[in-house]
Amino acid sequence: MRLAYLIRDVIPAITVLLYMLRNRIYYDLKPFVPRAWRRAVRRRLAARQRAKARGTWPIMPGSERPPEGWLGWPEGKKFAVILTHDIEGKLGLERCRSLMELEMEMGFRSSFNFIPEGSYRVFASLRHDMVQNGFEIGVHDLAHDGRLFRSESGFRRQAIEINRYLEEWNAVGFRSAFMLHNLDWLHRLDIEYDLSTFDTDPFEPQPEGRHTIFPFWVPAPAARQSEVRSQRSLGGSQQSGGLTTDEALNSEVSTINDSRSGYAELPYSLAQDSTLFLLLRETSIEIWKKKVDWIAHHGGMVLLNTHPDYMAFTNGQAERWEYPASMYRQLLEYVAGRYSGEFWHVLPRQAADLIRRRVLTKSFSGERAPVTKRLRQKRAKLWIDLDNTPHVPFFEPIVEELKTRGFPLLITARDAFQVCELAREKQLGCIKIGRHHGKHRLIKGAGLVYRALQLAPTVLREKPILAISHGARSQLLVSNWLRIPTLLMEDYEYCEFPPMMRPSWVLMPDVIPDASLEMPKNRIRKYQGTKEDVYAWKLRPDFSALKDLGLEQSDLIATVRPPATEAHYHNPESELLFERFMERVSTVEGAKVVLLPRNRKQGDFIRARWPHWFIDDRTIIPSKALDGLNLIFNSDLVVSGGGTMNREAAALGIPVYSIFRGKIGAVDQNLNAEGRLVLIKSAGDVEDKILLVKHQRKNVAEVTSTKTLHHIVDQIEEIAERYNRSL
Ligand SMILES: [Zn+2]
Repeated sequence: MRLAYLIRDVIPAITVLLYMLRNRIYYDLKPFVPRAWRRAVRRRLAARQRAKARGTWPIMPGSERPPEGWLGWPEGKKFAVILTHDIEGKLGLERCRSLMELEMEMGFRSSFNFIPEGSYRVFASLRHDMVQNGFEIGVHDLAHDGRLFRSESGFRRQAIEINRYLEEWNAVGFRSAFMLHNLDWLHRLDIEYDLSTFDTDPFEPQPEGRHTIFPFWVPAPAARQSEVRSQRSLGGSQQSGGLTTDEALNSEVSTINDSRSGYAELPYSLAQDSTLFLLLRETSIEIWKKKVDWIAHHGGMVLLNTHPDYMAFTNGQAERWEYPASMYRQLLEYVAGRYSGEFWHVLPRQAADLIRRRVLTKSFSGERAPVTKRLRQKRAKLWIDLDNTPHVPFFEPIVEELKTRGFPLLITARDAFQVCELAREKQLGCIKIGRHHGKHRLIKGAGLVYRALQLAPTVLREKPILAISHGARSQLLVSNWLRIPTLLMEDYEYCEFPPMMRPSWVLMPDVIPDASLEMPKNRIRKYQGTKEDVYAWKLRPDFSALKDLGLEQSDLIATVRPPATEAHYHNPESELLFERFMERVSTVEGAKVVLLPRNRKQGDFIRARWPHWFIDDRTIIPSKALDGLNLIFNSDLVVSGGGTMNREAAALGIPVYSIFRGKIGAVDQNLNAEGRLVLIKSAGDVEDKILLVKHQRKNVAEVTSTKTLHHIVDQIEEIAERYNRSL
């Protein structure tokens, strides 16, 4: 108990104290240490920190997770781009106009943060020109001496001054010197947003990142608001800090606005120019480009802080502590060229305004995605086996989440149905073991035993404590031989697992009744939602793939998956429904069908048997593989004889009709009962129930959520902890 207390509470407190001490000493000694020495020491330190931070910088895994209820960016843009600058000294001030010109030339605008009581004076004419040209002014610290947050009373005094400059400059944004931050105290500033934090930046004196590439809301604590109110009504009878009663009251009144319920925090997400080019001595913008691509892919916010003080605008060599301004130009060229029309480029105050409006209208809670605090805790290895194509998108977010929570992973994949290619594309980092052994039952059985044997050496070497899969039988088999506990995720209750392949734990959707499984009740875990909900939220819709097929947004697009027609899967009832639907849709004006046959043979057969469906390209069979989720999301309806596709459509809120006529599982029954999926049972249903109308599409964020994912990973974590402790 006592030891746990020591570890949990005392050690982090000491670490924080050490940081504070280090900062205090550093800023006190700074004026007396020659600049060249300081720079040499900082470079040495940075190199060491860079080595230590491998894996969490420049990208912190997990920080790409959008906050719960995130609605995406306005105007349907994929990601956001925000540019900011801190002006450190006279040199920076002199270069402001060159920097503005460079940005304007390329269609960008930015914010300039000035130090109110630093080594230079900010002329009203410069501020005026900036605002006239669409730039923004912000306040950068007060004196830039690293002492802003030393004591609360000191901060209160400085806050009054800062607020004066905010008002005078008509500014609503703030960034502290050296990215020191205390988000609670900042409520005393009259700001709409703060820029003093970052997703990940181990090179700053207060290196705790916010682990998110999204803006978030910092609500003023209710207690503080009422404290202010009561102080006011008491006439300020309380003494605080070194201030007299009147001063304290005045500071409260002037720094806290009752209507101010909080402020937006906009963490910067690209490495600062000084870190990249001066401390780490990078000679290209590769790190910036890679991060931009990653943020764009995940729909986050690119927020960059650069310093004109260090930018050499002359054509000659950059001197001393400087880098060529052309580096910055290259970045802007890269963003504008590669992502033209795809990003929401605004000033920080506009981004803050978006967050405030969403929070006030309650369309977004404003909270950032939860950050796991146990990153450093030692975790034992988990093993995930991917043996079929749908397992890859399903496990991708689970793998990311487990990594974020600090679990080392062993990921194996079977070389079948493009599992390995897909896994490589998603950068899952897996080991390829075993292959596909055909459809014949006996060969299939021997094949899975053989693969279990192939898996054994790797598993013995890696020593995972828990084996996880979505029905990978070879994994279950080898784990049972080697006595490794197994967690089977299943979403169809009619699968059978022979005794040799019984799992230790089952995790399944909560709509499946316990009784349908031959498992002790205490070994069954449930989750809310469907397997497809786990990853549907990751979709970034893109119509261009459909354009390539010759489709227009105005077309009535039906995506159709015929039933399996191979050997024992043969289902004549389902095939009849498919034919009836195709006959119907091919006579509807303006309707287009994207047909996804199970294989080439089936496609050729359909084309030869019903050539009239293909007249005028009314039916299209894509010649190459498409992103299924994206196709579904851009369709007006989906008609399918396959389970995964049906549930993906339901997860995305697209009207979907199942023509599957086998044993319907509880998940599909439930979706049908909830009206999210329509079971088509007869030819009459094809005519009456299937609606051929344009679908009013909603935002992905409105119809999906990360809840199911977190629910599942919580349970995996809980089960894994049991075995971790027993080690
Ligand atoms: Zn600064």
